[in-house]
Amino acid sequence: MRLTVLGSNGTYPTAGRPASGYLVAASGSNLVLDMGPGVYLSMLERVRRPDAVVLSHVHPDHCVDLFALLAAIRFGDPDGWGIPVFAPPGLSDRFAAFLAVDADHALHRVFDFDPVGPGDRRRLGPFELEFGEANHSVPAVVTSVEAEGRRLVYSGDTGPGGDLERLAAGCDLLLCEAASQGDPPPDRYPYHLYAGEVGALAAAAGARRLIVTHLVPTLDPAVSVHEAAVEYDGPIDHAVPGMEVDV
Ligand SMILES: [Zn+2]
Repeated sequence: MRLTVLGSNGTYPTAGRPASGYLVAASGSNLVLDMGPGVYLSMLERVRRPDAVVLSHVHPDHCVDLFALLAAIRFGDPDGWGIPVFAPPGLSDRFAAFLAVDADHALHRVFDFDPVGPGDRRRLGPFELEFGEANHSVPAVVTSVEAEGRRLVYSGDTGPGGDLERLAAGCDLLLCEAASQGDPPPDRYPYHLYAGEVGALAAAAGARRLIVTHLVPTLDPAVSVHEAAVEYDGPIDHAVPGMEVDV
């Protein structure tokens, strides 16, 4: 199973650096985790049509490029309709509302929306998916992807709590948001993680490898990696677009 970082910026894209998006390939199948702004173009350099998409939540930095994929498949690939999209309940309604379309629209045939939440499992080609609760300001999922005997866990956006540590237990690779740096203040924003918390979580879960991602673009990634490394003594990297990792 191979992970390719399509985009890793937290919150907003910058030049050459899309927001959240990851390509997971195994046994000839391709799964895309999140499609933030810029991710569609990055994906096209590798895959024209993914076999499935997981959207962790409805925030724009994780899902707006589904509109680009919708148009490309709708008008450019009539045989490619029916792409499974796993996402928290209500996400397809938000897309339909934005487009001001009803249930008959091609949106619902180009994509096969499949609402998922904590405890749900899905099988797709070589991929075994399991979803857990993310502690975020809107319904959001943590995603475990297992294929070819390896397992990757992607946090999406989450604060402390939820199912991330449980799902990450013993995983081969933890791809985890680390939106903030330093010591969390008492009035900390509860729906994102600090880099030190991510390191502690990776250590507690026994993750074999850690990649921090979703840093706010103004932060120095070296500081985040250092803060995580204080708590976790396994290999740590910062996700950058184009990075490829054999899980
Ligand atoms: Zn985000």
